[in-house]
This record gives sequence, C-alpha cells and structure tokens, in this order.
Amino acid sequence: MEIFHKELTFQSMVEASPVALILINGRGKINYLNRRAEQMFLYHQNELIGQNLDILIADGFRINYKNRLNALFSETTKRQTGENVEISALKKNGDEFPVLIDMNPITIEENTLVIVSILDITERIKANEQFRLVVESAPNAIILTDKSGKIVMINRRTEILFGYQSNELLGKSIEILVPERLKHTHHRLRNEYNSKPQVRSMGAGRDLYAIRKDGKEIPIEIGLNPIKKTEGDLVLASIIDITERKKNEEAFKLYTKRIEDKNRELEQYTYIASHDLREPLNSISGLIEILMDNSQYHEDAHLNKILNYINSASNRSRDLVAGILDYTLLGKNAEKKLVDFNKIVSEVLMDLESAVSEANANIACEELPSLPAYEVEIRLLFQNLISNAIKYRKKDTSPEIHIFARKIKNNWEFSVKDNGIGIPESQKEKVFLLFQRLHHRRDYDGIGIGLAHCKKIVELHDGQIFVKSVPDEGSTFYFTLPEKTI
Ligand code: ADP
Repeated sequence: MEIFHKELTFQSMVEASPVALILINGRGKINYLNRRAEQMFLYHQNELIGQNLDILIADGFRINYKNRLNALFSETTKRQTGENVEISALKKNGDEFPVLIDMNPITIEENTLVIVSILDITERIKANEQFRLVVESAPNAIILTDKSGKIVMINRRTEILFGYQSNELLGKSIEILVPERLKHTHHRLRNEYNSKPQVRSMGAGRDLYAIRKDGKEIPIEIGLNPIKKTEGDLVLASIIDITERKKNEEAFKLYTKRIEDKNRELEQYTYIASHDLREPLNSISGLIEILMDNSQYHEDAHLNKILNYINSASNRSRDLVAGILDYTLLGKNAEKKLVDFNKIVSEVLMDLESAVSEANANIACEELPSLPAYEVEIRLLFQNLISNAIKYRKKDTSPEIHIFARKIKNNWEFSVKDNGIGIPESQKEKVFLLFQRLHHRRDYDGIGIGLAHCKKIVELHDGQIFVKSVPDEGSTFYFTLPEKTI
C-alpha cells in the first residue's frame, strides 16, 4: 500500500512537471513521456512511444544528441550528472523551437534507461533578444559584466567609443578598459559594489577615466545597474563620454577666471584712481577755505559768489570720489555672520532720527529674520533705502514707510515701501546705475550712488534688487537674500 502510494506521488509529480520528461530505453526508443512533453511537441503519447528521440529533434542537432545518448548507456557506472545543452527541438507540425535538454541515466532493475528533460526556452530567448535590442539601440555605450567583471555583452556604441571589435571585448575582464594607474582602485570599488549592488552613478564627485584601444584616455560618466538573470547576477554599466562636457567646463572655468581677473584689475584701478584723486581735492578744498576766510574776498560779492561755486563743486567732486571709493570697498575683507535684521533697522532709524522727525515720517517695521550677511553693508543698504524713502517724498504728504520681509522658498524677500513721488516705469532699471539720478540737485540733493551701492551689496549676497512703483503714489524696493550662504 505504501509503495503504491509512493509510486502514485512520483507519477503525479512527473505528470505535473513544467519540464517535458521522456524516458528512453536501452534500444534508444521512447518508453514513456509526461503530459508536458505531449503539449510541448503536439503529439499524443501513443504516437511517440516506441519511436526514436530523433523525431523530436531538429535537423543538425540529431547526431550530437545521439552520440551523447550512446555514451550515457555505455557509461552508466559513472552516473554523470547531465549538463544542459541548448538545441533546437521539433514539433509535430514541423515548427522548430529552442530548448534546454538534459539527459541522465538511471538504472531500474538492472535495466539502464535515460531520462531526458526538456525545457522550452522560447520565451527566455525572446526576452533576451528584446533586452539585446534595447541595449543595442541605447545612445550610450552599454557593457554587461558578470560578477567577476567579465564582459558578457556590449552594444555597438561600446565598440565605437573604445575602438574595439566586439570579439576583442567579449569574455575579457572589464579592466581592459581601465587605465593602468586606476586599476587598483577600480578593483576595490568593483568588489565594494558587488557586496552591495544597487542602481547608482559611479564616481560621484570623482573624475573617471577609461582607456581606448589606441591608448587614449577619455573622461567618462558611468551608471551602474545590477541585473538578475538566470545565468547569474550581472552588472549593466551605461557609459557616457564626457570629453566635450569637460572641455566646455574647462573653457568656462578659464573664461570665469579671466573675467574675475579683469574685474579685480578694474576694481584695483578704480580704487587707486579714487584714492589718489582724493588728495588734490582735499588740497583744493583747504585752499578755498583759506581764501574764504580772507576778509578781502568777503567784501567782493562777485568773487565771493565764485568762491562759493568752486567750494560746492569741489565738495561734490570729493563726495563723488568718496562714493566710488566706498563702492570699490563694499564687501572687501568683510566676513559674513548671522545678522539680526531687526537690530540693524532700529540702529539705522536711530541714525536717521533727525531726518525722520524733520519729514514727520511714520515708519513701521515688521518682524525681520536673522540671516548670514555682511553686517556693515546691510546697514548701509537699509540706510540708503530708508533715507531715499524719506527724501523722495511728496511735497505735501508725510512719508509713510513700511518695512517687511517674507520667505519665498530658500530666500527672504525684504521690502521698503513708501508713499513718495514714485519712479516712472522707464527709469526703474536706470536708478540702480552708478551716478544716475532722475532729479535735479535743486529739487532733491544727492549724487546718485546710493542705489548702486544697494545693488552691489545685494549681489554680494547672491540676491537681487528691484523696484515696483506707481508715479505719484509711491515705490516699493525689494531685495532678496538667500536663507543660507551657498
Ligand atoms: P541719490 O539719492 O543720491 O540721487 P540713489 O542712487 O539713491 O541716488 O537714487 C538714484 C535715483 O533714484 C534718485 O536720484 C531718485 O531719482 C530715484 N529714487 C531713489 N529712491 C527713490 C524713492 N524711494 N522714490 C522715488 N525715487 C527714488
């Protein structure tokens, strides 16, 4: 009973197997086949029993399998484990299809039989072919390696990029493409990757190089992808030649450096020129004062008037030169620190107290943030914006000034809003240029440098400054500062 049960179980296992199983007897004839074999080859078992296995094997593969079968019958004592061989099988309707075939001898009651197991690999081959097509059509060089780094597949782009024929690369170690000086590191990194394979780019923050067949090194970028296949774990490397990008980066760096050098030169020049100009201007002012103190000039009204003109012109020249000097010095040797903008604004308001009360200005300041910034420069920025908001007021209206800030993504946007004379749309860019003024000195005093200072200060902080305004209603000056120093 127990034996019967065992046989039944064995029989159902064989019948339910997804692999076609065929038993060949000592005369080389089919003795038994399971249901899967019938389905796979489209025969009824009666049609196959007693036949040679040849009937199921495509032309060109028969001899090989026959030799193998003979060998198995004669070497039964060795009991080899059969190895999978890929061949073409033949259906009843004449269709050929790829299979993996495995043959194992067994001895039952001194009779030797061979079990042939056949796996239909049509789908697997199709999937492989699709994979190969995708790899082939990729715009990057793609190399598939096994865990030991042996190249198992490449696409045409790889041949072009590295100058090799595919047969020169297939089966070789990937290190054939690694420059000698980097082989050691590459070996270590590959081992690290194999211990924890994941999708990632290789060499982040590091320059990677490969070597072509002609010995030329090329800068590359690599993306790695672990792939699980029935044949084992593989790694798919997608490689881009970044020679052009590198060249552009180098050119860009050189260009930026040249601009920086030129800027520095120009700043140096401006600094020296304005610094040296100050001396003669100071002497002129001193001499004018001596002349003005002389009573002889007081008696002559005409001369007195001329002296006054010269005096105010030289004072203005001094202011202009001092303005340029200050401009070149903005941000020089300063270090950013965490600045409390509330404190800065209240200090500026104290400094401007007399102007505020003289103009009867009402200034409201909302809670402001603390940010990393150049403190002295930020004070100057608010001083310029607030004093302008007071200065450019309408004749008959007390200034209403509102200071506030709001966070936009990673930046803070500050605003200084007034109800003054406003700025015409066409002049909104011009006001930030050096020595550009919209009014005559008679109406509003100034030299046109305050907003140029503001622009430079904001840009030193990698921010932006702009104005929105309605003439006769007022202006709002906005500037942004990043929340964190880059
Ligand atoms: P200055 O005040 O010395 O002329 P600025 O560079 O500070 O120089 O300003 C440039 C010009 O921008 C000013 O001459 C003025 O015409 C205009 N301006 C600046 N601030 C305001 C404001 N709040 N309202 C209207 N006009 C302004």
